[in-house]
Amino acid sequence: MKIMPNRLDKGFYLYQDEFEQKALKVLRSGWYVLGNEVSSFEEEFAAYTGGKYCVGLASGLDALWIAFRVLGIGSGDEVIVQGNTYIASVMGVTINGATPVFVEPDEFFNIDTSKIEEKITERTKAILVVHLYGQASNMKPIMDIAEKYGLRVVEDCAQSHGACFGGQMTGTFGDIGCFSFYPSKNLGAFGDGGAIVTNDAGIADDVRVFRNYGSEKRYYNKVVGTNSRLDEMQAGLLRVRLSHMAELEKDKRNLCKRYLAELKNDNIVLPTIREGATHIWHQFVIKSERRQELIDYLNEREIGTIIHYPIPPHLSEAYQYLGIERGSLPITERYAETVLSIPLYNGMTDEEQTYVIDAINKFE
Ligand SMILES: *Cc1c(COP(=O)(O)O)cnc(C)c1O
Repeated sequence: MKIMPNRLDKGFYLYQDEFEQKALKVLRSGWYVLGNEVSSFEEEFAAYTGGKYCVGLASGLDALWIAFRVLGIGSGDEVIVQGNTYIASVMGVTINGATPVFVEPDEFFNIDTSKIEEKITERTKAILVVHLYGQASNMKPIMDIAEKYGLRVVEDCAQSHGACFGGQMTGTFGDIGCFSFYPSKNLGAFGDGGAIVTNDAGIADDVRVFRNYGSEKRYYNKVVGTNSRLDEMQAGLLRVRLSHMAELEKDKRNLCKRYLAELKNDNIVLPTIREGATHIWHQFVIKSERRQELIDYLNEREIGTIIHYPIPPHLSEAYQYLGIERGSLPITERYAETVLSIPLYNGMTDEEQTYVIDAINKFE
């Protein structure tokens, strides 16, 4: 049996008829950018998160850099972010000319809140919280620190649609929650897409103007903006998927419950969940000191895996200019050497999962 790490086609076939109907409706409407599908999606997604406003954008990266742009955070400013994130989180900071200041992660792969305060300087303007792999970060201490030092909080929710801390959904704690709808995310489109969620009407307005060339009224431009619009097709298809989020979340939760209960091998460490937090399982990430052997062994059995992420941002070629040496973030670097995401997707069958579990349990 061949098992891929992810199967986006299965996510389509689960609701094929609805997706196809919606696509035809948009195609036949004659209206393709900034119309009813986008405004309806924005309302529905804001309601889903419990936030007041949502503004659709072209990608998760756009959501991040536009968030920092409208908050006025740029050159000369520092933003605190965990070291073990996807590089897009960091680019959201540096595109504006701001400097990322990395903090080590905790055992749940999220920012270690006990190590934030020591990194705060007079230049620190914000904390960028990444709810990595789908588990909500420890928001109580983060919000307390932000309040104590007068810092902004931006949440990178590209992997955490629906994850909660203390019953509140990620993306609604800070000033701005940034979402991606890249096809592999838990709420995925059929192309690129993103959004911000905020409770601040002024921020929502600023982002809405900024995404459309800085224009509120056609051909009247208030600020130098950009073109970052969620299109009608993606918004329409996202509305279909959003209407099924409860089932999709339950499906993944059940798959991961089974992984947690049945995976048994001393060569791997299973993920754990913080008390008070929920996990929506964007990825099921294990750790192994014998990772490469395990990858090769699973490959021989036609089971695909992915490393999220093999090179932490501070060691990537792109960020050599920051001058942060190897060894300066030992936990982050250790995670990069040991983490492994095993197959997980909506529509994964019992048979497929049994095959993966058996294979991993027999790895010696
Ligand atoms: C996917 C992702 C992004 C970027 O989203 P895009 O829509 O691909 O631009 C940012 N941060 C994290 C943590 C992500 O996983």
